[in-house]
Amino acid sequence: MDKYEILKKYFGYDAFRNAQEALIDNILRGNDTLGIMPTGAGKSLCYQIPALLMDGITLVISPLISLMKDQVGSLNQAGIHAAFLNSSLTASQYYKALGFAKQGRYPIIYVAPERLVTEEFLDFALNSNIVMVAVDEAHCVSQWGQDFRPSYLKIVEFIKRLPKRPVVSAFTATATKEVRDDIMDILMLQDPMVVTTGFDRNNLYFGVMSVKDRYGAIKHYLETHRQDGGIIYCLTRKQVEEVCGRLIQDGFSVTRYHAGLRDEERKKNQDDFIYDRVPVIVCTSAFGMGIDKSNVRFVLHYGMPKNIESYYQEAGRAGRDGEPAECILYYSSRDVITNQLFIDNNQDNQELDAVARAIVKERDKERLRKMTFYCFTNECLRDYILKYFGEYGSNYCGNCSNCLTQFQQVDVTEIARSLLGCVESSRQRYGTTVIIDTVHGANTAKIKNYRMDENPYYGTLNKVQTYKIRQVLNYLQLEEYLFVTSDDYAIVKLTVKSREIMEEGRQIVMKLAKEPDRPAKESQPKGRKSKGALFGEGQFTQKEESLFEKLRGLRTEIAREEKVPPYIVFSDKTLTHMCIVKPRTKEEMLGVSGVGEFKVEKYGERFLGCIKEFAVDHAEEAQ
Ligand code: ADP
Ligand code: MG
Ligand code: ZN
Repeated sequence: MDKYEILKKYFGYDAFRNAQEALIDNILRGNDTLGIMPTGAGKSLCYQIPALLMDGITLVISPLISLMKDQVGSLNQAGIHAAFLNSSLTASQYYKALGFAKQGRYPIIYVAPERLVTEEFLDFALNSNIVMVAVDEAHCVSQWGQDFRPSYLKIVEFIKRLPKRPVVSAFTATATKEVRDDIMDILMLQDPMVVTTGFDRNNLYFGVMSVKDRYGAIKHYLETHRQDGGIIYCLTRKQVEEVCGRLIQDGFSVTRYHAGLRDEERKKNQDDFIYDRVPVIVCTSAFGMGIDKSNVRFVLHYGMPKNIESYYQEAGRAGRDGEPAECILYYSSRDVITNQLFIDNNQDNQELDAVARAIVKERDKERLRKMTFYCFTNECLRDYILKYFGEYGSNYCGNCSNCLTQFQQVDVTEIARSLLGCVESSRQRYGTTVIIDTVHGANTAKIKNYRMDENPYYGTLNKVQTYKIRQVLNYLQLEEYLFVTSDDYAIVKLTVKSREIMEEGRQIVMKLAKEPDRPAKESQPKGRKSKGALFGEGQFTQKEESLFEKLRGLRTEIAREEKVPPYIVFSDKTLTHMCIVKPRTKEEMLGVSGVGEFKVEKYGERFLGCIKEFAVDHAEEAQ
């Protein structure tokens, strides 16, 4: 068999994606390889397929038990012999698996890094033909990354002890140069081929909403997405409790996850979510590492995370199957303060000296600022993220809330002048709210106390709505015409660029959302990609939608019998394609993306039966 046949037979796919083929070919030529691709790009196949073509055993190093279980489950479902060796096995299970491994039953074995240099494992490894060591989540070797694992340092030690050096391949979704260099150095890759693909995830819709009633907005989202499952990230444990509690009261099926829960409850809640027993999980950032669930249809952020890295990682847990999914951030200006507190109270860097700590703090504040600007910008959100990671996009993606909002160019020079004038004349001592209230001419106790009602700019913008003044202020900050200190007071200061407006008469034109003629009923903008769109079939019809639900029900039933998460039986994407193709025979079924020979034999009959039944029911309806 060649690589194409394996791709089709076991995994049910017709073609490789961008970088997969290059990586696979390089490994098969016997060269070390480093693949840097975003979440959901399909890194696993890049080592699994060569493993099946090479004459010997591939060891896959993975940091988490849940990841190993998931991957081995998927391989077994596809008809490939694979096993994992980690601390979730009892001693007798472990020795049994090791025994089978010695007999050469498994072409692919997942191992926890801390097992590698144990005596039993070495006894097996030194007497077997290990042809490749594949390091998944390879950024775990780097202290620069967020997930450093000291046990990953054992990998090189292990490789050195093998009688013959195997091919070493490494994979990660972390793009920074420091991490990449660390991976190559620490794993001692020999003249590796490095393949990096773009970081865009074009099936993800990005949205930012600045709403007063955040809870109401999230509730509305769930109400209008009853069929879907997803994650709601909160900033604090307290928020998790609050949001989760209210949603349960309002009749939604949701569960929760944060570091304050006992281990058993955390594990149970996580499993409920992964096995589709509960569609929605409300959690802190503690949730997610090691979650490979491919059918997460939305990731909502009840609160802004501390930086773009975290946001993209968390949001990126949506839509791993490549089907359309949504990432929406519900922003409130209080989030900035909460995050500043986190930064100020960060205990992670105790071992650093005072100077180094101050540098880290400054860096964290700068990252927070960039995150805040994400919430302010009226430009393409996807482009903003990609630029942050050093990629250049087209500034229009058509699949984010800014690209789908109608904007108009508005001259806001007068507003900008008033704001800057007010800041200057009050000697740069006040926060954003006081400045905005002053130019708007508010009649509050604070304004009187500070005697801002005597400021020459008091009330100059009394006809402009405050939210609009705030948008302009945000924009001036984004463009560095003014600066807001990152402490609780959020004091507005002038910058070197302020002069351009105040003295040089620069005109300021910015994009502002067009006022809707009528208040929009749907909070969601139209025109996003929906089911089926990625197969070039346009929208799903009502009929296909109900077939999808039927197939999904069958999938759940099978998953229970097999004791695996539903997405391991078939991904959402595969079910979607099945609704479009509506296969009538096993032959036709093989044409569905993600259906391989083994799965056709195993489940084909039942899914064909379900589709046939559906066709009959609908034929009767039509009469
Ligand atoms: P990563 O580890 O890069 O985050 P995975 O290896 O988990 O991604 O793959 C994500 C999804 O993409 C899986 O459902 C996988 O089956 C699917 N996939 C991988 N390669 C292909 C391909 N060539 N065609 C279609 N789907 C693919
Ligand atoms: Mg992976
Ligand atoms: Zn866009």
